[in-house]
Amino acid sequence: MKSLSLSIITAAVALSGFAAQPKNVILFIGDGMSTPQRMTAEEFSRKSGRGPLALNNLPFQATTRTCSANSLVTDSAAAATAIACGQKTKNGSLGVDATGTNRLYSSATFAKQHGKKVGIVTTVTINHATPGGFYAHRKSRGDGYGIGLDLIKSGFDFFAGDELTKHNDKKHAEYRGDVYELAEKEAGYKFIRNDTDALRALKPGCGRVWFVHEKYPFSIDTRATTKAPTLAEMTAKGIELLDNPDRGFFMMVEGGKIDWAGHANDAATNMRELLALDDAVKVALEFQKKNPDTLIVVTGDHETGGMSMGFQATGYNFYMDKLVGQKVSVARLETVVKERRITEFSALREYVEENFKFDFTDEDWKNLEKAFAEDLAKMKKGAKENEAYDAVKIARFPHILKGIVSHKCGIGWSSGAHTALPVLTTAGGPGAETFHGFIDNTDISKKLNSLMQ
Ligand SMILES: [Zn+2]
Repeated sequence: MKSLSLSIITAAVALSGFAAQPKNVILFIGDGMSTPQRMTAEEFSRKSGRGPLALNNLPFQATTRTCSANSLVTDSAAAATAIACGQKTKNGSLGVDATGTNRLYSSATFAKQHGKKVGIVTTVTINHATPGGFYAHRKSRGDGYGIGLDLIKSGFDFFAGDELTKHNDKKHAEYRGDVYELAEKEAGYKFIRNDTDALRALKPGCGRVWFVHEKYPFSIDTRATTKAPTLAEMTAKGIELLDNPDRGFFMMVEGGKIDWAGHANDAATNMRELLALDDAVKVALEFQKKNPDTLIVVTGDHETGGMSMGFQATGYNFYMDKLVGQKVSVARLETVVKERRITEFSALREYVEENFKFDFTDEDWKNLEKAFAEDLAKMKKGAKENEAYDAVKIARFPHILKGIVSHKCGIGWSSGAHTALPVLTTAGGPGAETFHGFIDNTDISKKLNSLMQ
């Protein structure tokens, strides 16, 4: 009854054109997450016994155009700028307009100016395009060190993610030295590096925090490789530290490696990244239950991989259950081949059988063996004996493996890059009703700013 009356109020608010003002805003961005990823992960989640995705179940939805100022197919820098700052820029630029000279300011900065605490959380490097779009102003996303300097200048309250791509530069025009040191000694950040327990121990009132975890792994590999906190954990800690009785907070949480698994066409890894983002959304929804003045928005910056639900060979069938047994990313498999210096196909087959739990046929194995033999031949030609597998620039084996797995599940990929497909934006909480219809990615920032005024 309570939820019925709430939806009547929400509908009435939507019709009247006045949106309720949220105190807290949590914006989730799945990098490379469009409708195919959301719907495939929905199936994957159900087939793995986890149930429906929370991120697809928010009450309001808007189809969202993603093009940049100079291309129908955006990169993450232009998309982040559009989502964060409400204006298009050229691919490669971050927080500046299409001329590359004028600064643009994000909803995170807007929130800070309006007295809110601000947090930025990601599974990729914290100076990567998507997080950078919320605090940096650079004509080129390649200026990783400069983006690190902008991070400090932002004065935001909570950062969590992978390391800066470059934190020490003796030649940069703006500052020479270590950005991490600068953060701790000059900017008053409590800087935590690779110490997940120290992050867990933080309590509200501890001041500004910057947590980095180097080589933050794919969600599918987490247990095998590091003790990095999950995205859900970082989100929960962000909420705990940013929550305040005054003006509330704004937090952007990025599932950044959805994109990486999309570029790689690694279906199960892609799905697990979606689920990790969904776990983080669930944390926000729990908080929202106790704090109904919280707006949750979930969007993507663009589609990656040209993923399709359905593949010619499987006809009208879709087999997400086949993907559930995969325990490692294909990237991790390649690392294992390098680390263990595997040159015998039998050893590789054993590893694949153990970690993919996939019903490969004899023909599949034949194709995989052939691909690995080609890689070994290239390796011998291009590298010293026993030198790592990375001597093979474009390895055939992982490519063939990913193709077999995806196609037998009914997943198609048309690209190793981004596509122009629109994304879906879903929202729940006060002001969520403004997210409806067919919108532009620049509308997200405009809507958030008008709600936070
Ligand atoms: Zn990408």
